[in-house]
Amino acid sequence: MAVSEEVRLLCDEVAKFVREQVEPRSRWIEENDAIPDDLIKLARDMGLFGLTIPEEYGGSGLDLAGKCAIEEVMGQTNYGFATLIGNHTGISTTGITALGNEAQKKKFLPKMASGEWVGAFALTEPQAGSDPAAMRTTAVKKGDRYILNGEKIYITNAGLAQVFTVMAITDKSKGIKGISSFVVERGTPGFGIGKNELKMGMHGCTTAPLSFTDCEVPAENLLGAEGMGYVQALKTLTAGRVTVSARCCGMMDKLITQTAEYMKTRSQGGKRLAEHQGLQWMLADMAVARDAARGLTQRAIDTLMRGERGTMEASTAKVFSTEALGRVVDAAVQIHGGMGYMREVGIETTFRDARIVRIYEGTSEIQRNIIAGLLLKDD
Ligand SMILES: Cc1cc2nc3c(=O)[nH]c(=O)nc-3n(C[C@H](O)[C@H](O)[C@H](O)COP(=O)(O)OP(=O)(O)OC[C@H]3O[C@@H](n4cnc5c(N)ncnc54)[C@H](O)[C@@H]3O)c2cc1C
Repeated sequence: MAVSEEVRLLCDEVAKFVREQVEPRSRWIEENDAIPDDLIKLARDMGLFGLTIPEEYGGSGLDLAGKCAIEEVMGQTNYGFATLIGNHTGISTTGITALGNEAQKKKFLPKMASGEWVGAFALTEPQAGSDPAAMRTTAVKKGDRYILNGEKIYITNAGLAQVFTVMAITDKSKGIKGISSFVVERGTPGFGIGKNELKMGMHGCTTAPLSFTDCEVPAENLLGAEGMGYVQALKTLTAGRVTVSARCCGMMDKLITQTAEYMKTRSQGGKRLAEHQGLQWMLADMAVARDAARGLTQRAIDTLMRGERGTMEASTAKVFSTEALGRVVDAAVQIHGGMGYMREVGIETTFRDARIVRIYEGTSEIQRNIIAGLLLKDD
């Protein structure tokens, strides 16, 4: 991605961290479905939790282009670890940075920048997935508090998070304009965090349901004005989709390098795999898919960085990059033959990890609905 020299140097440092600290622990993370405490500490010391938080609150203040460059680097390592950091520095802090008042920013952002407090973003509910407007969680104002009741599911980082950005209905009569955004802290009475889900992939990064039972949240934890929650969630997700695309590009880079290396070393039928034209074409198609994904991701970054809405560009990048990753990882397994199916090579893990990107932050079908909706909109 196109970034400044400063961001490039930061990417090099993160790449070194990933190589030296994350990679050696990756198999352990995969097998234990947990991130070791010492790695969280090292990530805190490295400043990974503060990458996108404004400098005045203790972070590095990366913009979307910088965040995406880091996502590409993180795409080259353990997916659960990359998601923990990516979610925290993305959708889980964006709402506070965008809507928070000075007091809220001062209270939450410095501790989120240092990684002392991890963030989570809670929109999805049992009856409201692809259609978040169907949410049922309510927040009723009572004096200087809001009383929250409802449930959220599949919340990334829930097992570790201290600070949850939660969307809830404050005025049902206003539809989506009656949805507001709150910061709910772990330990608030009436706020329950359920058991970590067992998942196909993304091991190490926790995903859990949340419950709110007459949960009293101080009114000062409302982000922005009442009714701003849904619109901000959509903005947050638009940028989130671009960062997911960037991570997919990094994942494809790694798969392509790994597959090319294997093709050069493995021989069958009296010649190296690299000399079989059918396999060469598969490898070439992997690179074509990766480069097209990168181009669309860059276009979406540029659009958002210009201050434009970028909905179409973000959805196009997400649907293409996530589906390209699916094809690329499938080809990587195929070219590795039986070895691609074995855990030791790591492609099997990526095959499972890669499946989530077509589901979260809006499924492929929803991205297509958005694109078609914009194409068919009456002037
Ligand atoms: C591991 C994981 C982590 C997640 N992390 C978070 C998180 O941190 N915060 C959060 O709020 N949410 C999170 N989610 C939720 C995620 O965003 C939703 O799962 C996703 O939006 C899909 O919703 P759903 O699962 O209810 O599927 P459904 O909405 O029930 O969809 C089922 C199928 O129907 C299709 N479909 C639905 N509506 C339409 C339509 N209108 N047109 C065409 N097809 C349609 C979908 O594309 C899908 O194929 C996470 C999910 C997972 C699995």
